[in-house]
Amino acid sequence: MTATPETPTRTQVRPKTEGWTQKKDAEGRPLLQFASPKRGKPPVHLADLSPAQRVEKVTELGMPGFRAAQLEKHYFVHGTHDPAAMTDLPAAGREEFVHGMLPPLLTEVRRLQTDRGDTIKFLWKLHGGALVESVLMRYPGRITLCVSSQAGCGMNCPFCATGQAGLTRNMSAAEIVAQVVRANRVIAEGQLGDPREFGHEGERVSNIVFMGMGEPLANYARVMQAVRVMVDKKHGLGMSARGITISTVGLVPAIRKLSDEGIPVTFALSLHAPDDELRDEMIPVNSRWKVDEALDAAREYFEKTGRRVSIEYALIKDMNDHGWRADLLGEKLNARGRGWVHVNPIPLNPTPGSVWTASTRAAQDEFVRRLEAHGIPTTIRDTRGKDIDGACGQLVATEADQDAAQATPAEV
Ligand code: SAH
Repeated sequence: MTATPETPTRTQVRPKTEGWTQKKDAEGRPLLQFASPKRGKPPVHLADLSPAQRVEKVTELGMPGFRAAQLEKHYFVHGTHDPAAMTDLPAAGREEFVHGMLPPLLTEVRRLQTDRGDTIKFLWKLHGGALVESVLMRYPGRITLCVSSQAGCGMNCPFCATGQAGLTRNMSAAEIVAQVVRANRVIAEGQLGDPREFGHEGERVSNIVFMGMGEPLANYARVMQAVRVMVDKKHGLGMSARGITISTVGLVPAIRKLSDEGIPVTFALSLHAPDDELRDEMIPVNSRWKVDEALDAAREYFEKTGRRVSIEYALIKDMNDHGWRADLLGEKLNARGRGWVHVNPIPLNPTPGSVWTASTRAAQDEFVRRLEAHGIPTTIRDTRGKDIDGACGQLVATEADQDAAQATPAEV
C-alpha cells in the first residue's frame, strides 16, 4: 500500500446537481430580465432632473426659477419634503408647488435594527406597491448605506434571494436618491446607534454601496443620474465619488460606458468563479459575457479611471472555494497587470430555501493564502446584518413584508 501524495480530491458541488433548475427564456437560454416592466412608475421628482430642467419645471409651475435652489437646499441639505417646514416659500400655493417638485416617493413600512443600533434595515414601499430595502451601517469614521437600484432583480443568480425573486421594476433616480436622503434624516435625528461612541464626524451617509436589491448596470441611466445627484456639490448631496461603489454581475457594454463617464466611482465585479464552466451556472449573465471579457472590462475601468477595482467572491462550500480556483483567479488577474485589483471574498450568507452554505474557515483561509501568494491584496468582507436578513444576497420582500406594506398607508 502506498500513500497517495497528491491532495485529496475535493467535492465539487454545482447549482444544478444540488437541485436548482435554471429558468430559461423562450429561446432556451438562461432567463435574464433586462427590460423593466412599465407598471407602477413614480411621479417625476426634482432629483430625476438636471439643474437646468429643475428651473424649467419650477417656472412651469408658476414660480420664479430661483426657487429651485431653495428646494434643493431643503431636500438635499435638510432632508425634508414637508411644505410646512419651508417657511422661505410663499404660503400661497406652497403645498401644491412642493408636492409637484418633491412628491413623496418612499413609505417606510418597517425598520429592523441590530449591532446595538449601529445597523438598520429599512423596508420601503414605492409607488405601485413595489418593495425595496436599504441597509444603513455606522462604522468608526464613516457611515455606509447599501442602496437598492431595482425592486427585485432580473439576473437570476441561484445563491441570491433577490435574484431568485425576479424583477418587479426599475427604480427611478429620485427613488434611489431618496434612500440616502431618508437615511440622512434618521442619522440627524440621532437614531443610528450612539454617535458619541465615534465622535462627531460623519453625521451623514459618507459611503454608498449599490449592493442592495437589483443590478445597477441594468438600470444604467437612472443609476447614473442618481450618482450625479449624489456627487453634485452645488445642486445635490455633495458626496465623494470614491465613496460610491457600483457592483455588477458583469454587463460588459455597461462597464465600458461607466469607464467613460468621468465620475471616479469605485467599481466592483461580482465574479464568484474564475472558470466559465462554473460561472455559467452561478451567474447566468455569464452566458452573454464570459469571465475573461468581464475581467478585461474591469481592467479597462482601472486604466481609464485609475481606480483600483474590487472583485467580489462569495465563498460557497465545495462550490467555488477550491484552492485551484484561487490559483486560477490569481493567474487571470496577474495576466492583466499588477496593482490594479483587489479581491473581497465574502462568506456566503444563507438565503431561504437554499442548500448552500459558507465555506469552512480552513477553506476560506487557504483561499486567501493562495491569492496572497500570487501577490493579490485580499480582504474578507465584513458582513453586517445577517441576523436581520440584511446582509448581501438576503434582501427580498417576504410575505410578511407584503402584508405589512398593505397595512401601511402611503406617505403624503
Ligand atoms: N447585482 C449586483 C449588486 C447586488 S448584490 C451584483 O451582483 O454585484 C451585492 C453583492 O452581494 C454581489 O457581489 C453579490 O454577488 C453578493 N451576494 C449575493 N448573494 C449573496 C449571498 N447569499 N451571500 C453573500 N454574498 C452574496
